[in-house]
Amino acid sequence: PDGARVEALQHADVARLLPRPSAESDKYRRGVVGVVAGSARYPGAAVLAVSGALRSGAGAVRYAGPGSDAVIARFPEALVSAGPPRHAGRVQAWAAGPGLGDEPEARQAVAEVIGSDVPVLVDADGLRLMDLAAVRARTAPTVLTPHAGEASALLGVAREEVEAGRLAAVRDLAERTGATVLLKGSTTLIAGPGDVPVRVNATGTGWLATAGSGDVLSGLVGGLLATGLDAHDAASAGAYLHGLAGRLAPDPPSATDVAEALARAWQDVT
Ligand code: AMP
Ligand code: MG
Repeated sequence: PDGARVEALQHADVARLLPRPSAESDKYRRGVVGVVAGSARYPGAAVLAVSGALRSGAGAVRYAGPGSDAVIARFPEALVSAGPPRHAGRVQAWAAGPGLGDEPEARQAVAEVIGSDVPVLVDADGLRLMDLAAVRARTAPTVLTPHAGEASALLGVAREEVEAGRLAAVRDLAERTGATVLLKGSTTLIAGPGDVPVRVNATGTGWLATAGSGDVLSGLVGGLLATGLDAHDAASAGAYLHGLAGRLAPDPPSATDVAEALARAWQDVT
């Protein structure tokens, strides 16, 4: 509103941002991402978030929580543990929230990752479970990825108000939380706290409006944080690749198809 700088995310910018392994790389140096997602009620969210994390360029994906059996059955390359995040081992970033439900263990898991000293992405149920004061108190980068409904709940305004003023909403939320905020929708807006330009991503397609596609994005952006991208760049590159994958996947894509198409999206960009 008051002269916000807005920039369209360009292919070349994303190509420059994406991590590439070097001769000296090993899986730990490439970054380990931890995923906190899924519940007895939503076991698929764990699998989908991990599927995005596995195509993020991170060197390893750890999963912590009640979906560990489902995750390992689908992805033998994941490092799984059924306990709380603090027992999962060292990670360079966390992606937390998809399908967590309402159990006390889920709230505790979100509190643990928000209390950690590494970058954290919070999405979906995690956005309801998180303590705002704890988010504001974080010193490491934080990325929040609400859709309009989740943003409206965080801001305490009607969903229609967010829809009618998406740029104001995403900036307001970034200011209030001190986090980088990625507001999902037909275009995606990415705002940081402070005076950074708002980035707009338009690579997506309406086919991405399918159950679980946001869970894939969570794992992807969390993984990009683990590779060392800053919050604004990880959110931007993740939104770009996710949208492109939605276009490259066969129509109509499932969320699983979107995750699988991420490899082609990377090839397209790099
Ligand atoms: P979620 O709302 O968490 O399921 O996430 C849905 C994902 O699909 C987000 O990445 C949105 O940006 C994307 N998406 C939803 N609707 C559209 C649309 N009409 N056009 C492009 N992308 C969309
Ligand atoms: Mg979602």
